[in-house]
Amino acid sequence: MKRILLCCLAICCIFAFTACAPAAQTGESFAMDTIITQTVYAKNDSVIGQNNQILRDIENKMSKTIPTSDIGRMNAQNTQDVEISDDTAQVLKTCVEHAALTDGAFDPALGGLMAAWGFGTQNAHIPGEAELEGLLAHTDYNAISAGVNEDGKAFANAGGTQVDLGGAGKGYALDRLAQNLTDNGVSSAILSLGGSIYAVGTKPDGSAYKIGIRDPSGSENDYMATLELDGKFVSTSGTYERGFTQDGTYYSHILDPKTGYPVKNELASVTVICPSGILSDIYSTALFVMGPEKGIAFAHGQGVDALFLTNDKQMIATDGFAEKYGLSITNKDYHG
Ligand code: AMP
Ligand code: MG
Repeated sequence: MKRILLCCLAICCIFAFTACAPAAQTGESFAMDTIITQTVYAKNDSVIGQNNQILRDIENKMSKTIPTSDIGRMNAQNTQDVEISDDTAQVLKTCVEHAALTDGAFDPALGGLMAAWGFGTQNAHIPGEAELEGLLAHTDYNAISAGVNEDGKAFANAGGTQVDLGGAGKGYALDRLAQNLTDNGVSSAILSLGGSIYAVGTKPDGSAYKIGIRDPSGSENDYMATLELDGKFVSTSGTYERGFTQDGTYYSHILDPKTGYPVKNELASVTVICPSGILSDIYSTALFVMGPEKGIAFAHGQGVDALFLTNDKQMIATDGFAEKYGLSITNKDYHG
């Protein structure tokens, strides 16, 4: 009898829990040049709509291809001060600080070089030596300045460079979306913006959110491993994301700001996990430029977790990476 009572009690508890557990809300949209997918367990049914509004707002402030955006106006004014939003000021500050910290491996002033290579456009091609040299002279994050004027408004100056926040913007956007989840009391969600993902909590069945790490030598939906994520941000920078082939050589969109050429090392991708979206994004790009040896040492120094995949399918990770994130290798061609 006692056992039957306990059993009934357990069933009632499960029923009560599932009855008030928030329902899954999903959304797929396009912003910041990427597909965005969201699964959110929220009582409030406007969270995904709010997130999409936040994304549009960030894009309108930071896209270099929108002439009225903060970055569009900074780049057009070139050496003159431009009033900008507090959001853009914050992102610029973080980018410039981390450009210094990474010794220029990450450089938000390489917009001119990116435009010359034309990745993702009909006009993608290897620029001439003279053109690259001219652009390199205007690729230096130290030239970017920002501050607050007498009216308390944020301003910035591109200092003759062309600002490009493509290596940090999606990560920053995820930070903002994660904050919006917290503001709405959401404790279970997974958000994906191109190569950057945030997950918090567990699925309704109590299992962890699993993220697939793309197999750089496979196609878009192929992954080589999965890992578990809760309350952190993961960003992957890979050669497969964007690039073109000319005269039999592949040129990828991750540039070495010191040479002006696409990074050519043994790496196919770098995945970084840390508690900040913008930093996971910045570091994934920076560590790619640094290469595995320097990159691992840098990641250890900063206390961020990173997984490097080489073109010959070798995995190189920071200490304890596999255990920390329950890394499960699904493509056995990859080896440690
Ligand atoms: P991600 O895919 O996050 O590595 O970002 C790549 C994007 O960042 C490119 O499309 C460029 O807009 C920009 N980018 C490329 N190389 C660099 C670099 N070395 N430092 C900063 N941004 C970069
Ligand atoms: Mg990045």
